[in-house]
Amino acid sequence: MLEFLGLKDITELVNKAVPADILLDKNLDIEAPLGEHQLIQYLKQLADKNQIWRSYIGMGYHNTYVPHTIMRNIFENPGWVTQYTPYQAELAQGRLESLLNYQTMMCDLTGLDISNASLLDEATAAAEAMGLCFRHSKRRRFYVDSNCHPQNIAVVKTRADALGIEVVICDWKEMEFDTHDFCGVLLQYPNTEGNIVDYSLLIESAHTHGTLVVAATDPLALAILKPPGEIGFDIALGTTQRFGIPLGYGGPHAAFFACKNKFLRLMPGRMIGVTKDANGNEALRLALQTREQHIRRDKATSNICTAQALLANMSAMYACYHGPEGLRHIADRIHNATRILAEGVQNAGHTVTNEMFFDTITFLPVNGKDEIINRSNSKKVNLRQFSNGYVGISLDETTEENDLKDLLEIVGSPKTAEEISQVLLAAPDTSLNSTPFARKSLYLNHSVFHRYQSETNIVRYMKQLENKDLSLVHSMIPLGSCTMKLNSTTEMMPCTWDEFANIHPFVPKDQVKGYMEMFTELEKDLCEITGYDKFSLQPNSGAQGEYAGLRAIMSYLSSKGETQRNMCLIPVSAHGTNPASAQMAGMKIQPINVDRYGAVDMQHLEDMIEKYKDTLACLMITYPSTHGVFEKGIRTICDMIHSSGGQVYLDGANMNAQVGLCRPGDYGSDVSHLNLHKTFCIPHGGGGPGMGPIGVKKHLAPYLPTHPVISPINGTDEESFGVVSAAPYGSSSILPISWAYIKMMGAEGLRHASEIAILNANYMSRRLNGYYKTLYFNEQGYVAHEFIIDCREFKKSANVEVVDISKRLQDYGFHSPTMSWPVAGTLMVEPTESENKEELDRFCDAMIAIRQEIQDIEEGKMDPKINPLKMSPHTQADVMSSNWDRPYSREVAAFPLTFVKPDTKFWPSVGRIDDKFGDQNIMCTCPPMSAYESPFVEKVPPGKQPVVKVRASV
Ligand SMILES: *Cc1c(COP(=O)(O)O)cnc(C)c1O
Repeated sequence: MLEFLGLKDITELVNKAVPADILLDKNLDIEAPLGEHQLIQYLKQLADKNQIWRSYIGMGYHNTYVPHTIMRNIFENPGWVTQYTPYQAELAQGRLESLLNYQTMMCDLTGLDISNASLLDEATAAAEAMGLCFRHSKRRRFYVDSNCHPQNIAVVKTRADALGIEVVICDWKEMEFDTHDFCGVLLQYPNTEGNIVDYSLLIESAHTHGTLVVAATDPLALAILKPPGEIGFDIALGTTQRFGIPLGYGGPHAAFFACKNKFLRLMPGRMIGVTKDANGNEALRLALQTREQHIRRDKATSNICTAQALLANMSAMYACYHGPEGLRHIADRIHNATRILAEGVQNAGHTVTNEMFFDTITFLPVNGKDEIINRSNSKKVNLRQFSNGYVGISLDETTEENDLKDLLEIVGSPKTAEEISQVLLAAPDTSLNSTPFARKSLYLNHSVFHRYQSETNIVRYMKQLENKDLSLVHSMIPLGSCTMKLNSTTEMMPCTWDEFANIHPFVPKDQVKGYMEMFTELEKDLCEITGYDKFSLQPNSGAQGEYAGLRAIMSYLSSKGETQRNMCLIPVSAHGTNPASAQMAGMKIQPINVDRYGAVDMQHLEDMIEKYKDTLACLMITYPSTHGVFEKGIRTICDMIHSSGGQVYLDGANMNAQVGLCRPGDYGSDVSHLNLHKTFCIPHGGGGPGMGPIGVKKHLAPYLPTHPVISPINGTDEESFGVVSAAPYGSSSILPISWAYIKMMGAEGLRHASEIAILNANYMSRRLNGYYKTLYFNEQGYVAHEFIIDCREFKKSANVEVVDISKRLQDYGFHSPTMSWPVAGTLMVEPTESENKEELDRFCDAMIAIRQEIQDIEEGKMDPKINPLKMSPHTQADVMSSNWDRPYSREVAAFPLTFVKPDTKFWPSVGRIDDKFGDQNIMCTCPPMSAYESPFVEKVPPGKQPVVKVRASV
């Protein structure tokens, strides 16, 4: 490849691609690399330092039995885990169906009309709900019940501060609605102490004053509890963690968000919708919000991009596996165990505060809590301890008889579980089911929740869906800016070890020494790689990192008395999450132009700095630029901002071009997020999980995120701007992936990866030269780790648009590169270091063949309307149909190059998606059951033989 580029070695390439004044002049100080087996041994030692106690802390996190078949076939399966966000719907119908199941499940359980799939965690979902309420009425006050989970209150409060919304936290009974100035109310149902209370009067009164009402709720409780939608709530949200997702010391888990139909266009996050394909068949795709931030920028409904798709899929599958009867059984069983426990607590003389509960009770110990806590500690059991001396216990699916026995001993119950249950059975029914709170309505009626209650069937279903989706197990996914690189098995394995997976996020720190040690090592390495002084591991995605970093900047500026500084300069080429996050952080946004080389327009930047010199807060810039070039002037740009009193936020999504070569902290940036799910090998999961930790220079360190339950996180956090995630260290259980990657690569390996990433991009750009124009190079004619090819001219010459090229690539077995971003009508290709030359060549061959197909249209050799590009992608049904009347052959349609072979070909499962139809006919739950019934078998009357309809032979 170097020869092809006319270079003598990789150093020459690096010197041509990366500006000399930012090149790192030393090797990274990172420990010598470990082999895969050594690494696992070392990590086992760390893992052993975590202690797995039985936790009954609750607060939105519960033990769950992850069905082994789901664990192995989804969570541990690269076919599910390495998929990209389903923007190319034709090769993503599997996960789209599963996410549609998730939405259907959440609509059913909450009793509301529409649901998204999905959000980062319950606390951020609560903050998003506040955002929706605010956008709805523009009122700047929001009520939060003091009996919500503390992390929900904290994240909402933090978010509100920046938006200028006043949060009034009080007991729900004290809320008054005689004015019209509250946009919404957040209530926890059941609340953090486990109470189930009747909110109906409050809801009525709120509604009369135009205030929306939001329930943070527990989906498992809703299996037997009256759903929020039937009580009048406008929005319901929460986490589906206890639907078969490991605790993972805080994550990753999926949050849900459901609301009434009328808020459809205000709803945050991604939503799957039903539409049709080019052949009129039903097909799924992301509705409305698709890449919403890219279009609406700071007007977007939220900054959510990466959003826990994998975990939503696991939870949806959990519901498919258990079905409604299974869920109800699990919920009943937990509820009954809790009733026994409550009776035991009461019998022991303590005062249970709950009149009505599902799985959680809170009590005041008769002689103080010490005795109880001593006994629970000696049994390695964690209970929730309130600061006022109360104790809380939450039971879950995994609570078995011996656990209940232990808990009764801990609270000092004079009776055994058996004895208590005899008493309860003899007395009138006092369970939830006998109260007005009982759930009467049915749920999960759709056939998808009734067909897979056997392992035989669920395994086949998971495989069927997986087979419809292209992932890294098939071919490269050359997504510019999204860095789809190898997610190695060794890195992935530890995530599901008990010592990482089965730990509640709010356990005392001395139970997680292994985690702490791993975090410390990871932070040290990330500091060394980036040139920053301190990291926060709390943000769960890149966009959350942006928000957190910008908030840290604002806190720093305000600590210097410069509260007037709120202007954020953002180049027009920035990722859409940048302006969306800046808006959420309470900043004003000034776009900065780019010049015709794709670099920041220096004159415009200078003018804007001058114009806003008194209010400049920061510049938000991506480096290497989103145009795939290491701009020469980055140091100067950072200096210009600093000398005008501003800070530099460097979007670290493109770190894969820089690791070991240059460091943002050295060339002038103050803060960055890293996308660990890009550069540092956490798999994309079909749209999440992810981790977006932020690194900062020393002066910003005091302002990093804190946490209301586990605090301080590192050192002191008195000056922290607040809380961004529900869990103190975000999605902890996937951090071993990035930790392991760095450990196995070592300093040289990391640097070499960046070099090869740059080499691969330059090689491909050069190979495509003459067929497609690469839009931007640096002065020496080199790109960074990605490049943009221009497809705009084909519109005129052949009426071919970039989307036609994207879809045609599917016929060649490839996922399209990033389409029309940051420049409309282009493709951005990022090969990464993980792909070998053969794969790069196959992709280039496909692109070159497509160029020839375009030329055939240009030269009139191919029909301008009915041609392989316009008709793409081609499904098996298309090419196997008896009616083939197209001006090109079936071979051209499906096997256009020799490497596309019948035995290895990846087939798109539907034809070209009709986006417009879907957006005009919004449908976001599973289609009616008739759509799923076999068209060949009719309903059989009793006693009759089924009639099998055979297709008529031609
Ligand atoms: C991926 C990306 C983001 C957003 O990251 P998420 O984890 O999806 O929120 C931000 N900026 C750039 C340049 C990116 O490529």
